[in-house]
Amino acid sequence: MSENCIFCKIISGDIPSFKVFENDKVFAFLDINPLSKGHTVVIPKTHCERLEDLPEEYSSAIGSALPKIAKAVITGTGALDWNLLQNNGKSAGQEVPHLHFHIIPREKSDGLGYRWKPT
Ligand code: 5GP
Repeated sequence: MSENCIFCKIISGDIPSFKVFENDKVFAFLDINPLSKGHTVVIPKTHCERLEDLPEEYSSAIGSALPKIAKAVITGTGALDWNLLQNNGKSAGQEVPHLHFHIIPREKSDGLGYRWKPT
């Protein structure tokens, strides 16, 4: 864990969050500034900034958890469709330097557009 990392503090509970899912390697919580209802952030329970640096045991755990978390999110929100977004580095729009995946429920009327991309 990294002392000054917001997401490490969310994992430890030092920063409160609305937890969506947790196991020994993965944590998921609602985004504080959601792009749509149910926007969820999925993170490894180890400090790692970028996908290419994630230890295999954590990438396996996240790969296995993501479909289950996404299913729970779309069931809970009633949205049929969703985006999976993952930014690596500032040039790619990454603001929090702890690897994370966004699960963003989508509806036709959400105003994000069909060809939505992060800005
Ligand atoms: P990025 O732009 O790095 O891909 O996404 C970071 C995300 O983390 C943003 O969507 C932002 O709203 C979310 N976020 C940043 N700080 C916090 C926080 O303290 N709590 C929660 N729940 N989400 C946060």
